Amino acid sequence: MFNNNTYKYSNFICFDAELTNSNFTQKSTPWEMALQQLKKAADLLNLEEDIREILSHPQREVQVSLPVRMDNGKIKVFIGYRVQHNNARGPYKGGIRYHPNVSLDEVRALAMWMTWKTAVLDLPLGGAKGGIVCDPKTLSQGEIERLTRRYAYAISGIIGPYEDVPAPDVYTGPQHMAWIMDTYSILKGHLEPGVITGKPVEVGGSLGRNDSTSRGVAIVVAEAARKLNINIKGATVAIQGFGNVGSNAAIIMAKEYGMKVVAVSDSKGGIYNKNGLNVDKVLAEKEKSGTVTTYKDAEKITNDELLTLDVDVLVPAALEQVITKDNAEKIKAKIIGEGANGPTTPEADEILYQKGTMVIPDILANSGGVTVSYFEWVQNLERLQWPLEQVNKMLEQKMVKAFNDVYEASKKYKTDMRTAALTVAVSRVSQAIKLRGIWP
Ligand code: GLU
Repeated sequence: MFNNNTYKYSNFICFDAELTNSNFTQKSTPWEMALQQLKKAADLLNLEEDIREILSHPQREVQVSLPVRMDNGKIKVFIGYRVQHNNARGPYKGGIRYHPNVSLDEVRALAMWMTWKTAVLDLPLGGAKGGIVCDPKTLSQGEIERLTRRYAYAISGIIGPYEDVPAPDVYTGPQHMAWIMDTYSILKGHLEPGVITGKPVEVGGSLGRNDSTSRGVAIVVAEAARKLNINIKGATVAIQGFGNVGSNAAIIMAKEYGMKVVAVSDSKGGIYNKNGLNVDKVLAEKEKSGTVTTYKDAEKITNDELLTLDVDVLVPAALEQVITKDNAEKIKAKIIGEGANGPTTPEADEILYQKGTMVIPDILANSGGVTVSYFEWVQNLERLQWPLEQVNKMLEQKMVKAFNDVYEASKKYKTDMRTAALTVAVSRVSQAIKLRGIWP
């Protein structure tokens, strides 16, 4: 409805991911995992204690109570968060997720990852994340709108085009962004499109934003294949998660890169056909029945089985911590392109690195979304609209440059791509902090 790209949504909401956290084998929390990753990169960089101390603490954390009049006439209070991790390089930037498992710990980790993501891509932005604890599948459209507007009102004092610019994340999409922009604009007394990105194109969204995360994943997977001498045309790929990121990745990889999509999944399970799935037909099935699992021309598999299929490329495009020490050894893919945020635990990272699997980390692999968000923000500030070709070309240039920066760092520090990406990001953010200094 709101996108100009290949995939049309039957629903008014566009989902960024579709799995539940049911298969968590959680040892450390996401925030502990983020701190562990930071420490590894900081050690390699010999980062001074002062900077580590600053980076280990989000600059601001806000929790809000959101009273919402439900359709049955009763008031229900929801809890929302906005965590602003760092703004040394520019306004805070990062999505808002709606999920029953949202917690302050998770939002905090996601906010830190956004700081690294914008820095790896060398965007003049910082990192933040927001979330509301709710199950959007049980809410009506009216309830979701009231909840979203109440959240926008509650955080209106700490967001803004030069302060903090939210965007979509899990279970939020263009329509939510339009409501937030509208609420914020009413409060300010004038239209302010630059307060949020990922908006419908009709109200200031950028062309190409909707499938930009998936396009970015495809771009860096193709770069990785080049480095590993794998022919991307005909390479097999399994994609976990069939929300906005997973489904658009399937389309772009199959149609633009000639890859063979052999498996996809959603929260109900997965499907596999070693000869390749017809992605258009799988999409049509998902639109019709709400799940890919009813697609006929394929074998049924579980989400766990999908991860260990014999494929060239694996794209986890759902939620955190699905690749763990329990299944990492069994993974056969040569390249993992992390469409989701935080899908691989640090223990699994170590196992995969020893095995020689190239893991393109989330902060690089899925940064196409925030990169086009950045383009959208620039267009909004200038009151311009760029053609789709320009957006996609600039996205490709940014992603290829970032991939190569990280690849070089992995050679320089003799480390895995995640730690390499973190060294690139942490050193850029640290430089900004040092140059700006601490005041007052
Ligand atoms: N939620 C997306 C992410 O995790 C997009 C963030 C943005 O565009 O600001 O990267």
